[in-house]
Amino acid sequence: MPGIDKIIKGILHFRRFDRPFMVEEFLRVKADPQPSSVFFTCMDSRVLASRFTTSHVGDNFFIRNAGNLIPNAKHFSYESVTTEPGALELGCIINNIKHVVVCGHSDCKAMNALYGLRHDCHHQVGTPLQMWLKKHGQPTVSKFEKLEAGNNYSGPLTFQGETEKSNFDAYIDPENKFSMADKFSQVNCLQQLQNIASYDFLREKLHRNDVRLHAMWFDIYTGNCFMFSRERKMFVEITEDNYAHLIKDAHSDLH
Ligand SMILES: [Zn+2]
Repeated sequence: MPGIDKIIKGILHFRRFDRPFMVEEFLRVKADPQPSSVFFTCMDSRVLASRFTTSHVGDNFFIRNAGNLIPNAKHFSYESVTTEPGALELGCIINNIKHVVVCGHSDCKAMNALYGLRHDCHHQVGTPLQMWLKKHGQPTVSKFEKLEAGNNYSGPLTFQGETEKSNFDAYIDPENKFSMADKFSQVNCLQQLQNIASYDFLREKLHRNDVRLHAMWFDIYTGNCFMFSRERKMFVEITEDNYAHLIKDAHSDLH
């Protein structure tokens, strides 16, 4: 039965079966957690990033919103500040975390909505969700238009990574396995790296390779998680076979 009853029963289950192990983890980590990443993903109820990354206490900072969008720094002001740059500061500056992940997913309701609104983004009106998507999804829409103008939607598209010099090309869904809205979601995921790099307070760390930006994409129908490989210029499924390549690619010098 969904609803608050399910949440309360879930906490009872947690108290009985999982809490003892989590308390052990709390005691082990104590006041010195060393998280691996600041991990942005969607608020969708099917995207349990802490589960599919096998995360434990102290492992990652998770930030979830509608469509895993990170507002560009040009929108930053006292009146318009959002939690995402604050989370980057808390993670990468105050806690010295070196990896930022943006993880999109298939059948994303927020991305599906933005895909439907993509010809209406210049009208700065709408519901809260529509305005969030229009305002912060505009760079994604522009990038997708380039994909539409190209050959068979596959690209390549050029995205910016950590610095102005770390541009990379991306072929979107070259095997044509996913829907148009899912291709759009993958473009959105890659576009967020440039949005993250737009913040001045991260500039020095990004230039020194002290903060690295990664894109992932989770298929909610198969449970497969993909990571963008700059060497292969595409999302590559995270498997035992691809593991070594993806680790090497994620650590390779950018500049
Ligand atoms: Zn979503």
